[in-house]
Amino acid sequence: MLDENCLFCKIITGKIPAKKVFENESILAFSDINPCAEHHYLIIPKEHIENLNEMQDNHKNILGEILLTASQLASQLGFAEKGYRIVANTNEDGGQTVHHFHLHLIAGRKLNWPPG
Ligand code: AMP
Ligand code: ZN
Repeated sequence: MLDENCLFCKIITGKIPAKKVFENESILAFSDINPCAEHHYLIIPKEHIENLNEMQDNHKNILGEILLTASQLASQLGFAEKGYRIVANTNEDGGQTVHHFHLHLIAGRKLNWPPG
């Protein structure tokens, strides 16, 4: 369920502090420690799943919940109308550095496209 060597699992168990913006029994959302915009949050499952490649049929609910949490946070935090970006970096070419699935929720400035 959790991986004792994983940074985000340590945030889930409270071994490493984080600025939480949402939590329920299956999901945690917290501020990114190195924000790339005024708003930058990470939304993670409380189950250690490495990335999208590891998602199975039984993860449909958690994936849906995480995406919906992003949308709800965008409304609550006041940038839904102006806009935001959701990103799921996956493995080396995708730029994934923490191998516990997470959605980045980024807002607060005009974001460039395409990404670098
Ligand atoms: P990624 O590169 O997609 O794997 O994203 C990992 C993200 O985790 C980066 O944006 C980091 O800034 C962020 N991060 C690393 N350590 C922490 C931490 N202790 N608390 C919050 N965010 C973190
Ligand atoms: Zn983990």
